[in-house]
Amino acid sequence: MRRLAGLAAESGAELRQGQKVASLAELEADQIVIATDGYTNGLLPVLDAVLQPTRGQVVVTEPLERRLSPCPHYARHGYAYWQQIPDNRLVVGGFRDRALDIENTAEEETSSLIQGHLERFVGELTGESAAITHRWAGIFGTTPDRLPLVGPVPDHGGVWVCAGYSGHGNVMGLACGELVAQAILGHEPPELELFEPARLLAV
Ligand SMILES: Cc1cc2nc3c(=O)[nH]c(=O)nc-3n(C[C@H](O)[C@H](O)[C@H](O)COP(=O)(O)OP(=O)(O)OC[C@H]3O[C@@H](n4cnc5c(N)ncnc54)[C@H](O)[C@@H]3O)c2cc1C
Repeated sequence: MRRLAGLAAESGAELRQGQKVASLAELEADQIVIATDGYTNGLLPVLDAVLQPTRGQVVVTEPLERRLSPCPHYARHGYAYWQQIPDNRLVVGGFRDRALDIENTAEEETSSLIQGHLERFVGELTGESAAITHRWAGIFGTTPDRLPLVGPVPDHGGVWVCAGYSGHGNVMGLACGELVAQAILGHEPPELELFEPARLLAV
């Protein structure tokens, strides 16, 4: 990410960190890309209706004495996922299906309910009570059809959206950023048809 930022800066991009954009009216640009995944609330009302901020929670254990598995795991349609990292810590996330209404939130805080489920699952996986050393919650954006919104925002000339990966944005986010950049340059990548914002945005 630092390398990407360095290359952008070398090409003349001005990078600003820690500054929240409260309104698109603050921005002076011919083209604006909203790439905030699940943090879109209030920035553009038309997006609020279809991008649901969704909370994911994670725990990390102390290093375990034994190696459980060499590869990451993904189960229950993504409602449980875990991986043992090289120092033998177990990273475990998911279980928001135990309280879907509550976890449909932009509050970046862990909850005792989901953390309890995660801790019990750690016990099932390890067969022991490993100490939890780290906990966190993060927000991602979910769309009604679970496909991202990538492309022009209808009726908002020069405004683009690239968000709503529905929990799968680590790779798709980079790929979609590339696609939207191509589209802004006037190319028409065919892959964008699938993610066309107009399919979900009421105008
Ligand atoms: C617990 C958890 C587990 C996940 N697991 C996976 C996984 O296994 N695989 C996978 O592919 N994806 C996973 N995801 C989803 C993935 O992390 C996201 O889809 C991805 O990070 C999206 O990248 P992004 O750059 O588009 O947005 P983000 O990484 O969300 O970055 C958006 C940025 O925009 C900033 N921002 C928001 N609003 C404003 C504003 N008004 N003004 C200025 N800045 C603003 C935010 O501060 C943030 O820095 C997970 C997410 C969570 C929370």
